[in-house]
Amino acid sequence: MHKIYLLLIVLFLCSCQKNNQDNYFDTIEDNDFNLMPPAPGEWLYGRKEKGQDFETFLKTKHIVPNENSNIIYIKPIGDFTELQTRQIELTRAYLEIFFQLETKVLENTSNDVIPKHARRIGQEGQEQFLAGYILDSLLKKEKPRNRIALMALTEKDLFPKPEWNFVFGLASYTQKIGVSSIYRLQDRKLTEANFNLCLSRLLKICSHEIGHMFGLRHCVKVNCAMNGTNSLEETDTKVIRLCSVCQQKLNSSIKYDNKKRLVELGEFFKNNNLKTEFELMKKDLESIE
Ligand SMILES: [Zn+2]
Ligand SMILES: [Zn+2]
Repeated sequence: MHKIYLLLIVLFLCSCQKNNQDNYFDTIEDNDFNLMPPAPGEWLYGRKEKGQDFETFLKTKHIVPNENSNIIYIKPIGDFTELQTRQIELTRAYLEIFFQLETKVLENTSNDVIPKHARRIGQEGQEQFLAGYILDSLLKKEKPRNRIALMALTEKDLFPKPEWNFVFGLASYTQKIGVSSIYRLQDRKLTEANFNLCLSRLLKICSHEIGHMFGLRHCVKVNCAMNGTNSLEETDTKVIRLCSVCQQKLNSSIKYDNKKRLVELGEFFKNNNLKTEFELMKKDLESIE
């Protein structure tokens, strides 16, 4: 008799849990806001991207963490200033909250690992590294324990092929590796004055790229961290928040507590004086309370 009661209680709790999680996405959907029609030069202008709804995502092959694959790694390559090093540590802390997965910074690698044939001097007289070399010759070999995704960060500018002026970053979503440069995010030089703007860009770019590695495609209807962008100016118009659908996708793979994630993101933004970002989390939190 007791066993039946126990089973009923367990079933009841399970269904509550499920409803709570479903309600969460329905509730925060009210805080999603639609993208403006794209202007010339913007990512979606003249580009036909279909987007990806939750059902399509579930049917698409994507990674799910398991006991052998559950740590996100950041690999710094270069000679970073103290402020830049602080940005990398904050990015680590942010990604750990964003994906609710352990995130580690690997030991710093010197620029000397980039051979002459993978370097050039760019149009502004700045040194640039060939992004593909970093992916193919450095990151593919890097297999730290339980790696699920690996993101390299450089302080030097990057280029993808000789005919291109520069690239913000490059990734292989099948290999779950990527490289981004902080060179352009800091408007020439990182200072205390532009620290937060640069940090906000870095957090958006790293979470977006690693989001792709978890199978999230570009979001095309609402303003979201998974929107494609063509320029830094466009990145600045996008919010750091994942929309309700993208959150549902991520949560279906990484079974974290949605409220805990929101609270931690809110605290991170508050502690780092990222006011607009904090307001977004506060709005979601107020909606679910
Ligand atoms: Zn993208
Ligand atoms: Zn989205």
